[in-house]
Amino acid sequence: PARSSTRSSLPVRVVLRVRPFLPSEAASATAPCVSLLDYHPGGEVTVQLKDQHTSRSELYKVDSFFGQEDSVSQIFDQEVRAVIPGIFEGINATVFAYGATGSGKTYTMQGTEDFPGLIPLAASTILANCTGTWCSVEMSYYEVYLERCYDLLEPKAKEIMALDDKDGNMQLKGLSWVPVRSMEEFEELYSIGVQRRNVAHTGLNDVSSRSHAVLSLRVSTDVVKGKLNLIDLAGSEDNRRTLNEGIHLQESSKINLSLFTLSNVFSALNKNEHRIPYRESKLTRILQDSLGGSSRAVMIACLNPAEYQESAKTVSLAARPCHT
Ligand code: ADP
Ligand code: MG
Repeated sequence: PARSSTRSSLPVRVVLRVRPFLPSEAASATAPCVSLLDYHPGGEVTVQLKDQHTSRSELYKVDSFFGQEDSVSQIFDQEVRAVIPGIFEGINATVFAYGATGSGKTYTMQGTEDFPGLIPLAASTILANCTGTWCSVEMSYYEVYLERCYDLLEPKAKEIMALDDKDGNMQLKGLSWVPVRSMEEFEELYSIGVQRRNVAHTGLNDVSSRSHAVLSLRVSTDVVKGKLNLIDLAGSEDNRRTLNEGIHLQESSKINLSLFTLSNVFSALNKNEHRIPYRESKLTRILQDSLGGSSRAVMIACLNPAEYQESAKTVSLAARPCHT
């Protein structure tokens, strides 16, 4: 059955993905805390979140649901492939992976050698569509950490400044845009950037789960430029948990502010409101040219099947509660 809606009129699609149980979770695992309840013909799906211990449960409506047996290539085919032709016509798009640390964001975006994630799948699809001299592809890759930006394609992940241009749009000054002509070139740059992301903040514990990583593929044709942003967001765990792990409060409140702003931008866009609160965080200011207007966004909320409370928090920020 179609697990995905064809509803495409809203600017932001909300997609849920629950990863498989890990070997370490399998012994105590019963059923995943989230499951698909109902399909609405041609429209959304209803999902249920359920706490196995208390039997507490909630219902939410989303645009589509991917369960434990579904692969990242299915997510690509059903949710991402459709935005790629628009990139060649100058229509920007952004794919976000949202969720707590350990929920599967990096697996979904980056993937593994055997199971490529949405980033390499998108790069190979764009490159395959861009043969000949009428079109070229460039990539950038940067990290937003504590409202500062670092270019992962520059040695030592050089900090770059985000400045307003004369039209009031924010531009990353001096961000590297490197031409890529083949998957070999893409893979080489991407793996250098990934390594840089992992070592750039030595001395600080696991910064990569607390920064947003933005990989952008820019297509230039004879006529237009279009951009696809693929973003592995910072972990959405709450202050209590991060404080317990010894992370500075200022840091987790900046992360929470940027995720909260992102969620407010999504809901304002989907309600067609006049005022979209882009300016309240660095990430949404930088992405303003790719969020709203004719741009398309897909928010993939990643869920840990063994963590009810954390999953409920992720879904409540991403999805619409269902009062039926
Ligand atoms: P995050 O980036 O959200 O912190 P990860 O992507 O690192 O989470 O995933 C946490 C763990 O779950 C990793 O060990 C990862 O390999 C595993 N994992 C996530 N999704 C899947 C999947 N679909 N199939 C198998 N393992 C997965
Ligand atoms: Mg990660």
